[in-house]
Amino acid sequence: MGDDSRAPMLSRRTLLAGLTAAPAASAVRSAIAEPLPLVAAAQQAQAALRDAKGTKLVMLGTAAGPVPGRTREMTAHVMLSNGAAYVLDCGLGVTDQFARTGISFHALKAIFITHHHADHNVEYGPLLVIGWIQGMPLNVHAYGPPPLRQMTEDLLRAYGRTIDFWAEDLKMKPLKSVEVREVTEAGPVMQDDNVKVSAIVVEHPPVKPALGYRFDFKDRSIAFSGDTAPVEAIAKMAEGADVLVHEAMFVPAVEKYIRDQIARGRPVQFEPFMAHMKADHTPVEEVGRIAREAGVKTLVLSHLTPAIDSLTDETWRAAAAKTFKGKIIVARDLMVI
Ligand SMILES: [Zn+2]
Ligand SMILES: [Zn+2]
Repeated sequence: MGDDSRAPMLSRRTLLAGLTAAPAASAVRSAIAEPLPLVAAAQQAQAALRDAKGTKLVMLGTAAGPVPGRTREMTAHVMLSNGAAYVLDCGLGVTDQFARTGISFHALKAIFITHHHADHNVEYGPLLVIGWIQGMPLNVHAYGPPPLRQMTEDLLRAYGRTIDFWAEDLKMKPLKSVEVREVTEAGPVMQDDNVKVSAIVVEHPPVKPALGYRFDFKDRSIAFSGDTAPVEAIAKMAEGADVLVHEAMFVPAVEKYIRDQIARGRPVQFEPFMAHMKADHTPVEEVGRIAREAGVKTLVLSHLTPAIDSLTDETWRAAAAKTFKGKIIVARDLMVI
């Protein structure tokens, strides 16, 4: 959704210069009118993580759907706890966004995938390869629905020559395999010194299974809906959690968007399209109700549908606030929570 949003036109060189030097950063800022420039967002995230006490969640990408070129990246998150990083979902942009947080690839301990839609998994392979080059430990783990093991093997085979050239040249140990655990049903997923992770199965036809996850760190619990129609299982999973990150759809804006698309000749019909959206995603008012039932402290609205800049934070927040009286955060890329 949302291919009418604007993307800043930046050369890679300008961007890299902007990341390293303050004067270039301000030049980048004046070249693009809005929204918050990437450089500033990255610096804010790095500062927030530097000063952080306890577990932090960084929203790496907050847009729904496999649409490139928007001001929001596709869905991805990283949680940083006690120096260990846990990535959840690998939409396009995850590797760059991870790097922009300033978290070392050496800290990357595990990767979790909610479901096999492109806006959640398409950069899984590139994250492994670039991550390995940048120091990701060889014993990184991956968790997600089948066929994650097959995908991982296929990706590493596809990049095998590339990995070998690099390993030989730089005398590195090549990335030959990744420890994968496939998650097919609700229940415990993994546990280590920092966190206990569990999964639930959500409703996102025809994708089966599509998962939601709960991360119980020592100091903080964070639950993720994944992509789903409204289901009671999420309120149950997120019960008493500090933070619930839930996907959110603003129905009137989706209706307007698809009517505009049809007027421009896109070959879809309004009723079947909206029926599909309602079977697969959660209207933001329902998200508020689920957060209230779960009794969470903070609700984070993300995976925004449509991910267009013209929908203000206040519009999103007001819709969820009809049913949820706790703290509501409208996610932005590189926001630290
Ligand atoms: Zn999605
Ligand atoms: Zn999906």
